[in-house]
Amino acid sequence: MTELKDYWQNYIDGEWVDGGAGRIEVIDPASGKVLATHALADARDVDFAVQAARQVHRSGELSGLRPVDRGRMVQAMGRFLLEKIDEIAPVLSLEQGKPLWEARVEITGAARYFEYYGNQAETLEGRSIPLGRNYFDFTTYEPYGVSAQIIPWNYPLEMAARSLSAALATGNACVIKSPELTPLSQAWFALAAEAAGLPSGAVNILCGYGREAGAALAGHPQVNQVVFTGSVPTGVAVAKAAALNVVPCVLELGGKSAAILHDDADLDAFVNDVRWGIYFNAGQTCSAMSRVIVHESRHDDLVDRVAEMAETLSVGPGIDRAEFGANMGAMVSLQQRDRAEIMVTEAINAGANLATGGRRPKDYSGAFLQPTVLTDVTPDMAIAREEIFGPVLSVIPFRDDEEAIEIANSTQYGLVGGVFTSDLDRAMRAARRIRAGQVFVNEWYAGGVETPFGGYGKSGYGREKGREALLNYVQTKNVAIRLR
Ligand code: NAD
Repeated sequence: MTELKDYWQNYIDGEWVDGGAGRIEVIDPASGKVLATHALADARDVDFAVQAARQVHRSGELSGLRPVDRGRMVQAMGRFLLEKIDEIAPVLSLEQGKPLWEARVEITGAARYFEYYGNQAETLEGRSIPLGRNYFDFTTYEPYGVSAQIIPWNYPLEMAARSLSAALATGNACVIKSPELTPLSQAWFALAAEAAGLPSGAVNILCGYGREAGAALAGHPQVNQVVFTGSVPTGVAVAKAAALNVVPCVLELGGKSAAILHDDADLDAFVNDVRWGIYFNAGQTCSAMSRVIVHESRHDDLVDRVAEMAETLSVGPGIDRAEFGANMGAMVSLQQRDRAEIMVTEAINAGANLATGGRRPKDYSGAFLQPTVLTDVTPDMAIAREEIFGPVLSVIPFRDDEEAIEIANSTQYGLVGGVFTSDLDRAMRAARRIRAGQVFVNEWYAGGVETPFGGYGKSGYGREKGREALLNYVQTKNVAIRLR
């Protein structure tokens, strides 16, 4: 049994502090038990954190460092997370519901962002623009100053690491609004910043309600750049708040991503892609494979094999699932589970059929839902258009390539997409036409921290990951010099 301390605080200007809005209970979704309480920030706390970050920015303590030195600090934060993985993983597993081994995968992924962006710190170079013999002109990239980062609960460490590492590497001071369902594991970012020697105020972490602390941060007049990862409606509210202050905003929102499975694809390999694509993190992944669009000739075979795979997954408390394997944990909350379950019921009422799952496992009362496969889904059904954010796969048959692309592109989202075929020409044609920021060919989630990620359509704008992301955190200055 992992013992957690009872009360966790916010971290502002290098100090652990209480919250003006009191405390929030953090619940283990597998058991429904209270794990601990966490300080809840109000608008005043947000203001303190922004002022602390602003002070660091103005002092030049971070932005004035030689980039290689700043990069080394960022890399050290990643190494710190790996050193502490045995401490962090149970906390993340308990507060979020994911298997312990998945928590370790997430922490390793979070550390990887610090490695990558720490390495990139010294690669962001300006250029010189010729203006004739009487001038010398150059560009530089300067950090915005205070970067506000609003984080969701599904991968709280990886999502925060993604923004924090790139923002720090480029010399910004950061204020993180941690997710109110999963705030505990964020504490290790503060410890990592201290261990790496970052100045106090460079990393501030507050848990608070979105409508209060989140809104106060997104609309704070001294925030210079906002990164939001979460749902579409909240993203719209955050973007409006940023627009009122005329500051740039990155929106990483939801998805309803589809894999197109052609008749010439390797079905055995694909079943493994489905396992990761929709059942990892109990399907609470923005880039989840929530739809499979399958050639009609492979439909029945695919459904049989995927249902069989889904039934092998042992569902239960994440903290008991330490070993990498065929298992799945709880969803993050009863509310999220109930929402997914209702969407499945409504799909059945609309004409879909359950190939497997769709129910709560009878051994547990927590936020569990069996790995689910729905067939007879049509593209116009809500289940095919709306994000479920749960372990629910919709299977939709197609007749020809044209129809497959049309179905894939028939939602308001455009985060990722996939095509599975042994015909490279066909894959390339599909890759060009799938309306999404990232296309996977023959492997769902192919790519990594190095590859840019972000949405088309309602999935958002701006890119995180890869070198593209660095440009979200800097502004270009041009200096033109008249020579005498
Ligand atoms: P959410 O939008 O409810 O909350 C996200 C964050 O925003 C939380 O920290 C919340 O407190 C805060 N928030 C809520 N209201 C706010 C407001 N008015 N102003 C400022 N902040 C506010 O989303 P969620 O339920 O936590 O996360 C699930 C969603 O996130 C899904 O739609 C998923 O697809 C998306 N997501 C996207 C990505 C991506 O990279 N594209 C990654 C992870 C999750």
